[in-house]
Amino acid sequence: MQEKGSISIHTENIFPIIKKFLYSDHEIFLRELVSNAVDASQKIQKLSSIGEFTGELGDLTVAVEVDKEAKTITIKDRGIGMTAEEVKKYINQIAFSGATEFVEKYKETGEEGQLIGMFGLGFYSAFMVAKEVDIITKSHTGGAGTKWTCDGSTSYEISEVEKEDRGTEVVLHIADDSEEFLEEFRIRQILDKYCKFLPIAIKFGKDTEFVKDEEGNNVKDDKGEDKKIETDHIINADAPIWVKSPSDLTDQDYLDFYKKMYPMSEDPLFWIHLNVDYPFNLTGVLYFPKVKNDFDVNKNKIHLYSRQVFITDEVKDIVPEFLQLLHGIIDSPDIPLNVSRSFLQSDSNVKKISNYITKKVADKLNEQFRNDRENYEKKWDSIGLFVKYGMISDEKFYDKAKKFALVESTEGKFYTVDEYKEAFGANQTDKDGNLVVLYATDLDAQYGFVDAAKQKGYDVVKMDTLIDNHFVNGVEQKFEKVTFKRVDADVVDKLIDKDEKKESVLTEDESTKVKELYEKVIADKNYTVTVDSMATDDMPVIITRPEFMRRMKDMQANGGGGMMMMGGMPDMFNLSVNANHGIIQKILKSENEEEQSKLAKQAIDLAKLSQNMLTGADLSNFIKRSVNIVLED
Ligand code: ADP
Repeated sequence: MQEKGSISIHTENIFPIIKKFLYSDHEIFLRELVSNAVDASQKIQKLSSIGEFTGELGDLTVAVEVDKEAKTITIKDRGIGMTAEEVKKYINQIAFSGATEFVEKYKETGEEGQLIGMFGLGFYSAFMVAKEVDIITKSHTGGAGTKWTCDGSTSYEISEVEKEDRGTEVVLHIADDSEEFLEEFRIRQILDKYCKFLPIAIKFGKDTEFVKDEEGNNVKDDKGEDKKIETDHIINADAPIWVKSPSDLTDQDYLDFYKKMYPMSEDPLFWIHLNVDYPFNLTGVLYFPKVKNDFDVNKNKIHLYSRQVFITDEVKDIVPEFLQLLHGIIDSPDIPLNVSRSFLQSDSNVKKISNYITKKVADKLNEQFRNDRENYEKKWDSIGLFVKYGMISDEKFYDKAKKFALVESTEGKFYTVDEYKEAFGANQTDKDGNLVVLYATDLDAQYGFVDAAKQKGYDVVKMDTLIDNHFVNGVEQKFEKVTFKRVDADVVDKLIDKDEKKESVLTEDESTKVKELYEKVIADKNYTVTVDSMATDDMPVIITRPEFMRRMKDMQANGGGGMMMMGGMPDMFNLSVNANHGIIQKILKSENEEEQSKLAKQAIDLAKLSQNMLTGADLSNFIKRSVNIVLED
């Protein structure tokens, strides 16, 4: 039998198109061919298990071989094989229609970059790297072997050949521009990337081990050379733990797997085993890594698989953004891989998967929090990043997370928001009934304010990580009757406005006089001067920056969109004069205007100094003035 035929009817130019438009991802040809070989091997296993194939199964290992001389790559399996009729049907018609469909889709959408790598092109992807492809196959049902040859044009040849063993060999005659794929390390790299967890053993190359004697020295052979043992290198020697049942796995199994996947990472905090089969199919293991304050470093660590074949580490349409900090594997045959990204986003399965993962993560965190709070608190540095990020960005997650999100007080104690209300509500509720959570972003820089707040019996929480700024802005409105205020947003007596009038030692006239004096001396409209009753040992003048103002400025500094209009807005400060401080009495007693101004100025500069706001000539003048004051006394 020898037969020639023509594959195409309407698309003459399919191969150049395949070649051209998949250029950046040529390597996937191997994934496709090895997957086919594995599928065929699993099919024979299946047929054997149900008694429809009664022959010897034998060794089903799939072999990949490179012959640099002959410039070929061969993929061999001992699967079900094909009869000549099946080759015509599956290769000439079905596989071809898949390739045609790809080209049509490409033409429609023009989404070159997005289709690449997401589209399992199947058998015809071989033509991305080969100028000619042979299939030599023999069906498990017996009969003669069949050889199919196609040179990348639209015509093929099919003939009968001798083939001893059941199964299929695909031989790629590598094109001149694809000779990189004849390098062993390159093939190894591709197999390691895509085929590491396939369910049928894949062998490629050899592992060599030198034979050692008892002292650990190499043993020599007859020719005086080091004696070595060569064994087949199996690409997928490690079992994919996600396909196993969690009850069959120990913690050590999960940790070992993590180490294999991410050898450079520290041990994870904990993990979640995903397993659903309705309404979509999904398995996987997601690990919570230890994270520092960097957002991006750990991205692209979730690998997407489809039936144990690696597809991509770009999971941004499937996994919510805040969970992309996780590591691990998601395996789902239900994620449509052969469509463009815009379609992926609106695909209902993909949405469901994303929601499912979010829910699972929330449940896991809740469980950790309930079952082992001490440990959870210890890990809060890392966990907090996910939780806060998630609460800001995902409404559904927020609803769950508010029960296990923690704030840490400067004393090192942890509270949920409800617990915080319970503990400090009585003392820290303002006149409108809002719990005011006082926070510090920098314990050293804000030391004086933290201390003053504590003296007054207030609690101060730490908000000193990168995300806290966003967290405060993002969730404040969502918590009922809770506001956040940085500890230096006002003088301590006014931080939590309880509508209590403090008695001033000054008469109204004196108060006005002091206020006017300070307004004159500061001579800056961006400062709002008030005269307040504080303790005699408080600072004579305290400069604060209102919470609202500071947040606006922070947002602007972070390049917050829509903040353009704020650009020209001046910074605003409060200047609180301590009515009860000795210096004020001294000012009021003095008849000399110059003396009064000097005292006021000195107090203002002291306040600025304590806030790191005194610089340049102002600082230099302050020092000179201080020296003179010391000499005067
Ligand atoms: P898909 O694998 O998505 O069906 P392919 O183009 O890769 O598409 O393959 C088309 C068909 O050719 C397969 O469905 C299968 O029936 C047959 N085939 C491909 N490779 C092999 C193989 N190694 N052994 C047996 N049949 C194969």
